[in-house]
Amino acid sequence: MIVGVLAIQGSFEEHKSALVKMNIDVCEVRAKKDLKKCDALIMPGGESTTIDKLLKIYGLDKEIISRVKGGMPIYGTCAGAILLAKKIEDNHGVEGLKLMDISISRNAYGRQLDSFETEIDFEGQRAEAVFIRAPKILQTGAGVEILAKYNNEPVLVKQNNMLAGTFHPELTNGKAIYEYFLAMNGGAKHF
Ligand code: GLN
Repeated sequence: MIVGVLAIQGSFEEHKSALVKMNIDVCEVRAKKDLKKCDALIMPGGESTTIDKLLKIYGLDKEIISRVKGGMPIYGTCAGAILLAKKIEDNHGVEGLKLMDISISRNAYGRQLDSFETEIDFEGQRAEAVFIRAPKILQTGAGVEILAKYNNEPVLVKQNNMLAGTFHPELTNGKAIYEYFLAMNGGAKHF
């Protein structure tokens, strides 16, 4: 089982180290050939505008869409979650991959609360969550399961083989969300 980390821009190094600590084989994904080696993909936080543009230039957007439609598990964190959404409010040019039945708003916590750290409930346990110029998930379609909330708003959601979270699991020590992702559906048989 090899987990790909989209390594175009953003906090991919941190995701890699978190996975390596869990003894997971990791592959940096910058090109289509990298993605072919992977059984799952994490899209990190960063700047969705930049990642979106480069995904297209590298031709990775179509490849990711087709792999996800074929069952590959994908986890988008923060900017990565923005890229998964079918609808991005005030998108400022970000088109994204339009895969998940959610609408999301960029930089939605406003200036004062640009970044903060808190705890959320995830599967009956407390998990640390770091929000950095985070988006908000405004709406979720019928097939979308809400796995965690902050202030009664969804911050971690799942639809089939897709997971989207508005915070950064790679910046805390908790492994629970990675473990959940690694055990997800399509990829489960590999573990
Ligand atoms: N504000 C960024 C964006 O809109 C996301 C921030 C992040 O990924 N930490 O792309």
